[in-house]
Amino acid sequence: MLEMDKKSFKKAYVNKFLEMHGVELKEGNNQQKYEALGSLVRDYVTRIWLKTNKKYNKTGEKQVYYFSMEFLLGRLLGDALLNLGIRDICREALLDLNIKLEDLENLEQDQGLGNGGLGRLAACFLDSMASLDIPGNGCGIRYKYGFFEQKIIDGKQVEVSDAWLKEGNVWEKRKAEKAEIVRFGGEINVSEVDGNLKFTHVNFEPVLAVPYDTPIVGYENEIANTLRLWSAEAVSNEFDFSSFNRGDFLQAIKYKNSVESISQVLYPEDSFYEGKMLRLKQQYFFVSAGVQSIIRHFKKHGGNIELLDEKVAIHINDTHPTLAIPELMRILVDEENLEWNTAWRITTNTISYTNHTILAEALEKWSVDMFQKLLPRIYMIVQEINERYCKELWNKYPGNWDKISRMSIISDGKIKMAHLAVVGSHSVNGVAKLHTEILKKKEMSDFYYLYPNKFNNKTNGITHRRWLLKSNPELTKLLKDTIGDSFIRHPIDLKSFENHLYNEVVLEQLGKIKKFNKERLASTILKNDNIRVDPNSIFDVQVKRIHAYKRQILNCLRIMDLYNKLIDNPNYDIVPRTFIFGGKAAPGYYLAKNTIELINCVARKINNDSRVNDKIKVVFMQNYRVSLAEQIIPGTDVSEQISTTTKEASGTSNMKFMMNGAITVATLDGANIEIKDEVTDDNIVIFGLTADEVLSYYQNGGYKSVDIYNSDQRVKRIIDDLVNGKYHNDKNKFKSIYENLITYNDEFFVLKDFDSYLKAQDKVDTLYRDGNKWQKMCGVNIAHSGIFSSDRTIQEYATGIWGSQVIYKNL
Ligand SMILES: *Cc1c(COP(=O)(O)O)cnc(C)c1O
Repeated sequence: MLEMDKKSFKKAYVNKFLEMHGVELKEGNNQQKYEALGSLVRDYVTRIWLKTNKKYNKTGEKQVYYFSMEFLLGRLLGDALLNLGIRDICREALLDLNIKLEDLENLEQDQGLGNGGLGRLAACFLDSMASLDIPGNGCGIRYKYGFFEQKIIDGKQVEVSDAWLKEGNVWEKRKAEKAEIVRFGGEINVSEVDGNLKFTHVNFEPVLAVPYDTPIVGYENEIANTLRLWSAEAVSNEFDFSSFNRGDFLQAIKYKNSVESISQVLYPEDSFYEGKMLRLKQQYFFVSAGVQSIIRHFKKHGGNIELLDEKVAIHINDTHPTLAIPELMRILVDEENLEWNTAWRITTNTISYTNHTILAEALEKWSVDMFQKLLPRIYMIVQEINERYCKELWNKYPGNWDKISRMSIISDGKIKMAHLAVVGSHSVNGVAKLHTEILKKKEMSDFYYLYPNKFNNKTNGITHRRWLLKSNPELTKLLKDTIGDSFIRHPIDLKSFENHLYNEVVLEQLGKIKKFNKERLASTILKNDNIRVDPNSIFDVQVKRIHAYKRQILNCLRIMDLYNKLIDNPNYDIVPRTFIFGGKAAPGYYLAKNTIELINCVARKINNDSRVNDKIKVVFMQNYRVSLAEQIIPGTDVSEQISTTTKEASGTSNMKFMMNGAITVATLDGANIEIKDEVTDDNIVIFGLTADEVLSYYQNGGYKSVDIYNSDQRVKRIIDDLVNGKYHNDKNKFKSIYENLITYNDEFFVLKDFDSYLKAQDKVDTLYRDGNKWQKMCGVNIAHSGIFSSDRTIQEYATGIWGSQVIYKNL
């Protein structure tokens, strides 16, 4: 905890402001006030940062490098203040100066360098590693433009580029002196030197990778780890224009543009693979820069390269950074002159891999032609890895060509990145129990039989510091008042809150806090989306990427059905509900965009129908992102986690919601199963097909969605409503959704689960009517959420995969 009192903070802040802006505080605007505060906090952090780096260099502790294409950090100021232990002091000091801390915090642009769950997981992991004193570094790309900003115009998603750096970024530090060169294209010359083959890369296009470092502050522990993001620049940034003739000049500009495009923008697809060359370039770019800088640092501090795996762990977040495997091999073999087998032992011991999805459309397979042209030396190494590995397979399964070609890294002109990741690492983990079981028994069963010891589960988690302490201070206070503050360092201690749930005063407090957060959310909805909602209604929320497998359509169909029931029977008795949606669709994903339009058309129709407006309202909140999630989640009563069973590997918003006392309506998918096991059946509402049923339908067929359409009057009516002009003049508007459900037989079992989903929602209604019982359920969810802190997850990674020394934190 930083030694600091209100008075000295105030003084430092006033001075900082004057120094930065050359005017007195009272003459400044809020943006300037934010910048001064950010800069002051950054100064405090910098001291801790230097100290941490010194400590690491002295102790030589094993370093973890978390490689990820995405880090979805959100805002950093509030988090930094909280973890420094000075957020309250800062708030009070600013109040004395007539400034509201939250007003300044809200000016910070979200750092949105990720798409969704995978990128947010990386951000939570950084926070937990720092807070648990684990030397953990992030490695990724400093995209100039992050995940696009979403506007809803005429009910449609419109994408606006996210120029998050336009006002500057106080948190990052450019480290030009630590730049690395990454080489693309060209040819490989092979020669023999002293009986050894020597590989020389010529005619390549060099790209300068410049790191920008951001400190990641641990919770009141004097630790600041580093997130290193790489930016692509032309090798010689300043052209000597006079020395170019016209052709060379244009050539030089072309080169500069081509290089800078590498770190220009984040690809906005979530769980979807598109074989674009630029994407492959991005992957090799940050991975090569990252691995080179790790080796350089390691050697600078006297490390013996043959012992690299004792001092360095590299973790790859999904297959996107898999080229770390051949890149490390290249450095060890070509530059450090190690024997192949020695290099392979070091590489596989250093690298570990997390699988995030079993969706077929997400599997990365690069075409050999493109890959070889862009990365000629890396391709040779992948070929060599594959040849040795296939020999191993041949010895194990002689003559079984089918199996060998199925398991090969290279086949049918494609390089399968998941296969390379499994073969080249010592650990493969799934992100929830069910997901890991499906990996072992189905998706990767061949590999599981070959390497049973590599496979393990690490159920995802979320940082309770951001998702409880920071985003829900009112609930945090109630928890501290009832169970003390040990849960802050040991979130598992939240369990003792269960002992207080017989106390009606506590239940009443829980209700009041929820109401307060719902009122705050209602005013955000009014301000951002111009819809008035009633905080006394049930706030029923589904916020996440828009995806067919996440089934926003199922949610929307039940609203359409409920609307029909309320019109048919004005006395139909329900607890009033507000249906809240949020989430971005990939710009090229037609069905997802069409889903957003449908939700908005249903919202427009219902919200303008006075016959039902005292009972239901529908809101699509635009531009869902981390900072918006922090407002929505504390104000939620019902958390919709309704993916087709087997398709959502874990989910993490399910954990954020339960930690904030929402009741989950869920399929038995991903981590929902573990949430159910924690809270028991009485405190969650489960519906839908089981994993075995879904897998059996996929394997054996037997499901016909049109049969449900024909036999269930409710279903027939809402499906017809999609195409009869009820929600849009253009009857073809939602044809893609109609066809998906009927013509193409409903791949995600929306209609199959419809009846069960409606029953689940009826149950929610009944439970909510008993106020005390409902609050108690919310309390049980809060009390059992500690296990889903990413501190638990990171302890498991550290001890089970990385071999970090962990000071045991009582989890
Ligand atoms: C937590 C989070 C996600 C992941 O949500 P799921 O429902 O688990 O897919 C996505 N986006 C943001 C902004 C988040 O905070």
